[in-house]
Amino acid sequence: MCFDLLRSGTGHPIDRGTSSRQAKQTRIIRENLLDIIEYPHPALRHKSKALRRVDADLRATVSEMFSLMYAAKGIGLAANQVDLPYRMFVINLGSDRGEDDELVFINPILSRPKAPVEEEDEGCLSLPGLYAPVRRPSSIHVDAFNLEGEEICGEFQGLLARVIQHETDHLDGVMFIDRLSDTAEMGVRDEIAEFHRRFEQKREAGEIPSDAAITQRLKQIETVYC
Ligand code: ZN
Repeated sequence: MCFDLLRSGTGHPIDRGTSSRQAKQTRIIRENLLDIIEYPHPALRHKSKALRRVDADLRATVSEMFSLMYAAKGIGLAANQVDLPYRMFVINLGSDRGEDDELVFINPILSRPKAPVEEEDEGCLSLPGLYAPVRRPSSIHVDAFNLEGEEICGEFQGLLARVIQHETDHLDGVMFIDRLSDTAEMGVRDEIAEFHRRFEQKREAGEIPSDAAITQRLKQIETVYC
């Protein structure tokens, strides 16, 4: 039986209509075009709260996320990878518009991981060029909503199960490099250090706000949508 998100109190994504105050706030969110942020940007460590509303701005965000994902040749992208605190991610295993199904998962809850645990190389659009093997259950049960508010409920296997687990990790502030074996971690240590070095350079150049400013912005958006 499927988990009942509504009764569990985790919320159902609904259109509530937009007050003028909310409209002003959502305009703040949509002022700039989205961009994929790179590790170790603090938004990647943000643990998302459940989305409680879906409006035109959020639909526009989803469309923009798909475009960014295709441009970067990815097959999955979570909201905090574009510096947004939504419990939501998009997937298209075809990695191009029209090649496969465009899937949107809102407020996903994973359960019933099943053996065998399989090890495959993973990459991440927030760690471009870095690949390493990650062990994950080959099958997982998912309860979520799509953009139309319809329930997604079922077992997923293979690559789709792996991508769903990778993206749900993002929503909890977990990166795939957190799940590496000691040996695999040693193999990418220098590359990770290079990401840290580049991030500090960008911050010193004033391209990235302070941790406090990033957190404040995410919390402000949360007051509208979560
Ligand atoms: Zn990722």
